[in-house]
Amino acid sequence: MQQNVVAESLALVAQIRDFFRQQQELYGDDIFLDFNPQELGLSSSEKKRIKLLSLYFQVKECHHCQLAKTRKQLVFGSGDSTSPILLIGEAPGATEDEQGRPFVGEAGKLLDKILAAIKLTRSEVFVTNVVKCRPPANRDPQPEEITACASILKQQVDILQPKFILILGRIAAQSLLKTTQPLRELRGQAVDLFEAKAVVTYHPAALLREPGLKRSTWEDVQLFQQLFKESSVISNGRREGNKKN
Ligand code: URA
Repeated sequence: MQQNVVAESLALVAQIRDFFRQQQELYGDDIFLDFNPQELGLSSSEKKRIKLLSLYFQVKECHHCQLAKTRKQLVFGSGDSTSPILLIGEAPGATEDEQGRPFVGEAGKLLDKILAAIKLTRSEVFVTNVVKCRPPANRDPQPEEITACASILKQQVDILQPKFILILGRIAAQSLLKTTQPLRELRGQAVDLFEAKAVVTYHPAALLREPGLKRSTWEDVQLFQQLFKESSVISNGRREGNKKN
């Protein structure tokens, strides 16, 4: 998030500065402060980015659970905030905690290959986790930590409005689908989640431990690709135009 945050903050500051310059030209020193953000002439994608950025600043110091005591930083999510595709994993590991971005360690490298198999790159999707802070020693997140974080994910989804969600791993799947069913029963089908079509598959870290799961993962992502290929939003894994509005 950080690089995006800096770039987006600078872009926003530049827009606000231009707005005030224009106001000053029109009204002299009597700058009209009670302005409407609509007047900045932002496109809907820009508004989306700004809302996401503002959510990030609201939650980055979150202390709603004990993970705040041991994390280095909250890992909010990264990627294209205008993408119709959202990937949801479990929780950051050591490398993610260090760098502030999701899936940048070994599991992340495998995730890149999985995406490449369905002709997607990380910059074409948005990636986040159900839990935003690293559980110590990479233990499973506890139910109360998942619950404490749920409202951040919900707000992210409200802003991103994804059409297709790929759920990575058992912890994310069971918490999002509110079930205790094993992952093998949840994968291999499209389900409804947050007004989007979702597919559950194995977590890349599980594939690193158990390469025999790769075949099922391949089938799951093929199904996922089929969903977005069938949609008019995306064709052959590429968005039809990256429209500003
Ligand atoms: N595993 C996850 O579930 N998420 C990450 O960001 C990294 C590893």
